[in-house]
Amino acid sequence: MAAWIQAPKGTKDILPKDSENWRLIEDIMRDEAAIHGFQEIRTPVFERTELFERSVGDTTDVVQKEMYTFLDKGNRSISLRPEGTAGAVRALLENALLNEGIPQKLYYLISCYRYENTQEGRQREFHQFGCEAFGTEKPIADAEIIALAHGIFERLGIRGLSLEINSIGCPQCRSKYHETLRTFLEESKEALCHTCLERLDKNPMRILDCKTPSCGEITKDAPIMKDYLCNDCAEHFFAVQSYLDAADIPYKVNTRIVRGLDYYTRTVFEFISGDLGAQSTVCGGGRYDGLVKQMGGAQTPALGFAMGMERLLLVMKAQQIQLPQPAVCRLYIASLGKAAQMKGFALSNMLHHAAIKAECDICDRSLKAQMKYADKIGAMFTLVLGDNELQQNKAELKYMRTGETMPITLGNDFLTEFLAAITQAESLALGSQS
Ligand code: ATP
Ligand code: MG
Repeated sequence: MAAWIQAPKGTKDILPKDSENWRLIEDIMRDEAAIHGFQEIRTPVFERTELFERSVGDTTDVVQKEMYTFLDKGNRSISLRPEGTAGAVRALLENALLNEGIPQKLYYLISCYRYENTQEGRQREFHQFGCEAFGTEKPIADAEIIALAHGIFERLGIRGLSLEINSIGCPQCRSKYHETLRTFLEESKEALCHTCLERLDKNPMRILDCKTPSCGEITKDAPIMKDYLCNDCAEHFFAVQSYLDAADIPYKVNTRIVRGLDYYTRTVFEFISGDLGAQSTVCGGGRYDGLVKQMGGAQTPALGFAMGMERLLLVMKAQQIQLPQPAVCRLYIASLGKAAQMKGFALSNMLHHAAIKAECDICDRSLKAQMKYADKIGAMFTLVLGDNELQQNKAELKYMRTGETMPITLGNDFLTEFLAAITQAESLALGSQS
């Protein structure tokens, strides 16, 4: 097949066989966010490149290596969003949402773009569900947002995710830690990978996050942030844990969780799955108390998380989690000849107005082909319309599961009679199950 007719590397079509699952998962996410008082925000797919450089941070992999950046026809540098927080904060500031009161609690379901080495669970276009809360530094807010993510995993029936939390302190206590860590790492500098060598000056803590085995070996005995937290940060971290305990949310403190983006402060967390191999983080998040100010707003503490939809679906597949299937087609109307097809169209329209799933022939196919199609879509009832049926204004409704038929009129009472037939069929089906 010619290359131009293949999807670009790192992208995937979401086909009808899967899109229903996506929709069900998204519905659960929207609902869980809503019951926690979060409201949806929709921001552009692209922003000025500078927005990401200044927020995500120019020492991060995302900005250094992974962004889709181009000049538009007006010579502006534009990037496809690699994540959702930057756009949400920009929109919050530009639209002065904080004037409407705090906390501001936002969620989004978005596509993201990163030029990555593609593998299972790592794509160039992928999707995130994310939540951001602005205007509170209180540890209860950290626990609440973690509880929201946890609630979604529970509702989806996902088992065995490990919640790992850490505190990476505030700029004050972190700078002391950075010094100590830098001194420690300087000693084995030669063995660090190229990227980490660059990080050593600007952001040595990120070296703890490096997946290169030689870097892992060096950082094994490195000093940990937890021992350097100032009193306020230590108390904050302790309180977050107390709230998680109160909500019965199990977690582990993992001092190596530092998160990949520059803007995080204090609490950081990940939900990690054992079912995903190398791409094991399904959800990551944390506090970013300095970001809003750094982007030109007033000092506004904030926090958030993002879940990777594709990784979530991989975990659900590995755990063989089945979601309820979509409503079946209630009626397929087969027809012979133009007049009957017209009648079938009118009747199916009548059902659509009553929000009942129904289909009629739109391909002018033989009766045999139409019935084969009805079978394939699993229609609950079928109706065959020909000249006779039109003349008598009556037809035989066939219940496909048992082959039983019942008469139905094709006039004004059609809808009422059809609804009665569904009720009868459902009670029969219930009866045969018990
Ligand atoms: P990783 O360490 O796996 O590269 P990250 O730290 O870059 O992850 P975040 O920026 O925190 O990821 O994004 C939040 C979530 O989005 C991740 O936990 C993951 O589930 C998902 N995600 C990130 N990058 C990708 C990708 N390229 N393809 C699919 N999902 C992704
Ligand atoms: Mg990454």
